[in-house]
Amino acid sequence: MKNSNWKQRQARDPWVKKAKQAGYFSRASFKLLELNEKDKLLFNGAGVVDLGAAPGGWSQVALEKVGKSGWVVAIDLLDQWKLAEKENLAFIQGDFTDIELEEKLVEKVNNRSVDLVMSDMAPNISGIKLSDQARSIYLVELALDFAKKYLSPKGSFVVKVFQGVGFDEYLRAVRLSFEQVKVRKPAASRPDSREVYLVAKRPKANG
Ligand code: SAM
Repeated sequence: MKNSNWKQRQARDPWVKKAKQAGYFSRASFKLLELNEKDKLLFNGAGVVDLGAAPGGWSQVALEKVGKSGWVVAIDLLDQWKLAEKENLAFIQGDFTDIELEEKLVEKVNNRSVDLVMSDMAPNISGIKLSDQARSIYLVELALDFAKKYLSPKGSFVVKVFQGVGFDEYLRAVRLSFEQVKVRKPAASRPDSREVYLVAKRPKANG
C-alpha cells in the first residue's frame, strides 16, 4: 500500500482514534483486549513473551493485566519500541528467526514460568503473494516451536496467521500440540485482511 493511502486509511480508522484516546501505541491493542476478554489469557502475576512486539500495543495491555507481580519479555526486529523501561518489562531488538535470539529470550525469562506466548509478527510485505505467505508461515512455525518448548503446562499461545497456502497445515499442527484451539477474528482486525488469530491452550505433553 502506498504511504499516502496508508495515511488516509489510518486517519479514517476508528480503532486508530480509539487507541489514541485510550493511550495505546497501536490499534492492535484492541485485538488482544478482545481475545483476552473471550479467552482469559492474562491474569495477575502472569509471565508473557511478546513476539513481534513493536511499537508495544500488546505489551501495554499485557502489563496492565499482569500487574506488578507479572512480567513481559518482548522482541521486535525494529527500533520502534515505545514503552518506557520498567522492572517487569524487557525488550530485545532483534530478528526472531536468528537462532541466537532464543538464547537471549531465555536469558530474560530467567527460569520463570511462561504463561502466555503471543505472536503478532508479520513479515514485511514484498507484494509477491506466495513468498510473503511462505515467510509468514515460517515465522508462525518458529513461534509455535518456541511456545511448545517454553510454555508452562497450563500456558496459552496466541498467534496471528494469514489465511492462504500453509494455513490449514499450520492449524492442524497447532491442534496436535494443544488441548484447545480457537480461531478468532477480533473486531479491530481489518475485514479485508486475511489475518486471523489462533488461541491455543494447554500444550499437550507429547504434542
Ligand atoms: N503487536 C504489536 C503492537 O501491538 O504494537 C504490533 C506488531 S506489528 C503488526 C508486527 C511486528 O512484527 C512488526 O513490528 C515487525 O517488525 C515484527 N516482526 C516481523 N518479523 C519479525 C522477526 N523476524 N523478528 C522479530 N519481529 C518481527
